[in-house]
Amino acid sequence: MKIAVLALQGAFYEQEQILQKLGADYMELRKKEDLTEPFDGLILPGGESTAQGKLLRELDMLRPLREKIRDGLPVLATCAGLILLAEKSANDTRSYFQTLPVTVRRNAYGRQLCSFHTVRDFGGMKDIPMTFIRAPYIESVRDDVEILAKARGNIVGVRYQNQLALSFHPELDTDMRIHQYFLSFIS
Ligand code: GLN
Repeated sequence: MKIAVLALQGAFYEQEQILQKLGADYMELRKKEDLTEPFDGLILPGGESTAQGKLLRELDMLRPLREKIRDGLPVLATCAGLILLAEKSANDTRSYFQTLPVTVRRNAYGRQLCSFHTVRDFGGMKDIPMTFIRAPYIESVRDDVEILAKARGNIVGVRYQNQLALSFHPELDTDMRIHQYFLSFIS
């Protein structure tokens, strides 16, 4: 099993560290040619969705990756990655993969002083630490999207078929259960 980590911008290194700790094989996606190598799962890291989206378009990686996600490639998306997957944004006209039938709100907790940490249940998992950094939340979901976590009254974790998307950054905490859960639906 090999996991591809989108490594154009943002917190991809932290994702790789977790994969390493879990003993999972991984590779980086930096250019279109990297997509020719086979991989079984994809991680879309946090960072700046506008920068990542622009690079994905310029490097002509948006369309081929969208195809793979539509074809069932398992994806774990955190924060900016969630914005990339979302069908719509409530406060931005830009959209990217649009494979996840949810509406997100970018920088939903305010622009500057909007980082916080909390502990919440996530699906069947108790007490998952959640670090939010200029985070989006999920404003609405289509009926067939499973809501896995809420914080401060907002949806912050969902699963839709092969796509697992979070507003927060599990890779910045030591608890690796969310990554283990993601890897469990690949193998
Ligand atoms: N604010 C960023 C965006 O809108 C997301 C922040 C993050 O990934 N930590 O893309």
